[in-house]
Amino acid sequence: EQNVNNIKHEYLKLFQYENKLLPFTWVVIRIDGSHFHRFSEVQGFEKPNDEQALKLMNSCAVAVLEEFNDLVFAYGVSDEYSFVLKQNSQLYQRRASEIVSAVVSFFSSTYVIRWKEFFPKKELKYPPNFDGRAVCYPSYEIIRDYLAWRQVDCHINNQYNTCFWMLVKSGKSTREAQSLLKGTQTQEKNQMLSQLFGIDYNALPVIFRNGSSVFWDKETMVTDNGVVANSHKKVVVEHPNIIEDNFWGAHRFILEV
Ligand code: ATP
Ligand code: ATP
Ligand code: MG
Ligand code: MG
Ligand code: MG
Ligand code: MG
Repeated sequence: EQNVNNIKHEYLKLFQYENKLLPFTWVVIRIDGSHFHRFSEVQGFEKPNDEQALKLMNSCAVAVLEEFNDLVFAYGVSDEYSFVLKQNSQLYQRRASEIVSAVVSFFSSTYVIRWKEFFPKKELKYPPNFDGRAVCYPSYEIIRDYLAWRQVDCHINNQYNTCFWMLVKSGKSTREAQSLLKGTQTQEKNQMLSQLFGIDYNALPVIFRNGSSVFWDKETMVTDNGVVANSHKKVVVEHPNIIEDNFWGAHRFILEV
């Protein structure tokens, strides 16, 4: 009876389509909070940047790297995180939907579990969700370009949002603030911040300006008498410039070049 059923239903597997990620490419799994404009309002995030919310995102990204061995780097800003899977990874035989769904659901459930660690006085009003996608980048240069693109995006958005919220907090309507900022260049926004509000953009916290990078780093344990006792790896969160070469030159082991 059992056996007959198995044979009868075997053909249903034919309807599943292959969604294997191209071999030997860098795979980026990018997750992004769904409707976080609303979520951040409902939860009363500080504008433009709620530092605790960013730290919660970072904490979840650390957990993801600890959980999925083949993830070698992650970059996060706002409600998004990009996770880089090493080139030759065989995670889920490179099936995209399994990889994406496992990472995004692990991230979401960690976000909910750790919420109270970062917001002890704020109740989580409803369960947030994140969407996810996987994209293959075929070379070292292109994965570097991808990461640079996300950090450029961070700069542009952060600068706009900082100006926008300073204008709104100083009494302008959101419409007025938008029209004042329309078509302005980086230079003009920096001038506006310093002349109207006395803010030096480059002095704002680096976590806001550069976003967050998460990776396995080498840690050296030094004992009381100054002897190097142990050396193991742990996941760290830093805020380097990942557009220029310096960081990558000093951390060649991350993308193994
Ligand atoms: P979608 O579902 O299409 O992603 P969204 O509302 O999440 O829509 P995004 O473009 O992803 O839109 O932008 C995320 C929004 O979440 C930001 O515009 C900002 O309003 C809010 N946000 C995310 N993180 C923070 C934070 N740390 N502090 C303040 N606001 C935040
Ligand atoms: P995979 O990661 O490959 O899915 P798995 O351990 O989740 O591995 P499944 O084939 O999905 O394996 O089987 C789910 C297992 O979870 C079951 O074999 C059973 O041991 C356990 N399980 C799930 N739901 C229940 C339940 N309601 N009560 C008891 N055990 C359960
Ligand atoms: Mg989205
Ligand atoms: Mg979003
Ligand atoms: Mg977003
Ligand atoms: Mg399974």
